[in-house]
Amino acid sequence: MKTENQRTALITGANKGIGKEVARQLAQRGFAVFIGARDLAKGRETSEELCRAGYEATFIQLDVTDPVSIRNACGTFSQKADHLDVLVNNAGILEDHGETIVKLNPELLDRTFKSNVSGPIMVIQDFLSYLEKSPTGGRIINVSSGAGALTDMDTYAPAYSISKTALNAVTKQFAGALRNQKIAVNCVDPGWVRTDMGGTSASRPVEKGAETIVWLATDAPQHETGKFWHDKREID
Ligand code: NDP
Repeated sequence: MKTENQRTALITGANKGIGKEVARQLAQRGFAVFIGARDLAKGRETSEELCRAGYEATFIQLDVTDPVSIRNACGTFSQKADHLDVLVNNAGILEDHGETIVKLNPELLDRTFKSNVSGPIMVIQDFLSYLEKSPTGGRIINVSSGAGALTDMDTYAPAYSISKTALNAVTKQFAGALRNQKIAVNCVDPGWVRTDMGGTSASRPVEKGAETIVWLATDAPQHETGKFWHDKREID
């Protein structure tokens, strides 16, 4: 059955961490959520967990670095829904190992860009026609990082930091290009969050890390676009 009258959200990298919590919170608010995950078993497990809790969730296999996977994901999505209200580009990698840019391996930079920059661009491009059909005005949220803020940049993880700065530029580019279609495009620094990426010493639980993303997906004014947010405040 197609979700014609229900709000829909696709979250990439939704099988764990911040993405999974965003999916849970949006499902709790009545969205039909699409769990984008590259790993079949992990993605299915997450969507089944949400369904068992009484929510509407569907797994979509989606590797954001693979154009064929993204196209196939669109095909799966179109069988279940005719519009997309919210796209959360959450999937990302951090593979720097503490070297500064002086020793940066260009292959690591390429790999990081593929996941954190080209991936979100391709996902937006392929799902754009569904976002344009959102009756409420589509919303795109790119999960960035404080590490990408030019004003406060550390030298610790150069590939990751540069990729998130680029993602912020991607956000501005799409916000400008989609202004006439009334699609809001924003990026978020979720803070330092306790996940596999953030580690166990991180200061925030996933609930807090998901908060501003969910706010931009739901309650933030639709006219807010092209901005970089932290704790519901514009930064950088
Ligand atoms: P996790 O490592 O816990 O989760 C990352 C998710 O992204 C996983 O589901 C992973 O899938 C998925 N992923 C990675 N590459 C791909 C790919 N090519 N295709 C599809 N999915 C992919 O990280 P977090 O939850 O902490 O991070 C989520 C986002 O938040 C990231 O963009 C990150 O940069 C950002 N962020 C996180 C911070 C933190 O402190 N945790 C701080 C600032 C920003 P799989 O399980 O298969 O590996």
